[in-house]
Amino acid sequence: MPGISSHRIMSARTLRSAADLAHAGLLPADAMEAAARVGTRYSIAVTPAVAALIDRADPADPIARQYIPHPAELLTAPHEQEDPTADAPFTPVEGVVHRYPGRALLKPLLACPVYCRFCFRREAVGADGGVLGEPALEGALGWFQRTTTIREAILTGGDPLMLSPRRLGAILRRLEAMPHIELLRIHSRVPVAAPDLVTPALAGALGAVTKPLYLCVHANHAREFSSAAVEALGRLHRTGVVLLGQSVLLRGVNDSTEALEALFRAMLRARVKPYYLHQLDPAPGTARFAVPVEEGLALLRAVRGRVSGLAWPTYVQERPGGAGKVPLGPAYAGS
Ligand code: SF4
Repeated sequence: MPGISSHRIMSARTLRSAADLAHAGLLPADAMEAAARVGTRYSIAVTPAVAALIDRADPADPIARQYIPHPAELLTAPHEQEDPTADAPFTPVEGVVHRYPGRALLKPLLACPVYCRFCFRREAVGADGGVLGEPALEGALGWFQRTTTIREAILTGGDPLMLSPRRLGAILRRLEAMPHIELLRIHSRVPVAAPDLVTPALAGALGAVTKPLYLCVHANHAREFSSAAVEALGRLHRTGVVLLGQSVLLRGVNDSTEALEALFRAMLRARVKPYYLHQLDPAPGTARFAVPVEEGLALLRAVRGRVSGLAWPTYVQERPGGAGKVPLGPAYAGS
């Protein structure tokens, strides 16, 4: 696969099957067959860094719950949709999603270091998810070049930090050379899920960007901020990249006041400003993670009294059909 250095895509030690997980003690032998069936539909990947965070003695471990396949993933609830954020109808050229005025997504690859069981792009991302080939990438960059209303280019995927530093650096240079692009943003799970990929070369590629560069780090539990993750984030912070945190409210992972407070505090200690807490998007087979909005609002109200404003993200939900994000509250004025 061009553009991803071999160690970035296929670390020999990343667990990529039900058998790998069972062998590592992360899946009971009697759950292997069902997990293998899930694996034929949705990719599996658990990096060594994530595997080390899982408490094998805890059947309800919040880290394991995010990554270990479960038979319920093969059951699609009536309200669940293959493309819940409706990327497809807003794709003017391959690799680009243009849903909002002034900003657009560039998806240079569809591979991730880990595969989250609640992923809203789970029908698109996966081990087969390649890098945009040269003609498609040129087409996507050409779209950004001629669409002069775009001020913010957002790299997502998949996970853009899986690209080789050289290829990522080249894409960032092309984008920042466009006079109308004022801001660059990258969404990534790499700093917490595969902190070893945050090499000096990768930090150098991000640090070479001269326009404002924001990195949105996806993390859902305080324990994801391991010492290696905090070190990787520190390396990125020192290059001048602004670090923001985005999380998904997930049943069994962070659906308590204590878990959310610990998560937001862990982010701040790692120099990451909590930015968005997302309501779960209804992707197929993700119902076991759903937390009702009313419960989310009550949790955030409770957290609000315990943390400073710095630790306070905006709680948001994607409206169906690609109609955009709405802040959910809680509201305070007059309440
Ligand atoms: S890292 Fe992001 S895109 Fe990749 S599987 Fe997880 S939620 Fe989906």
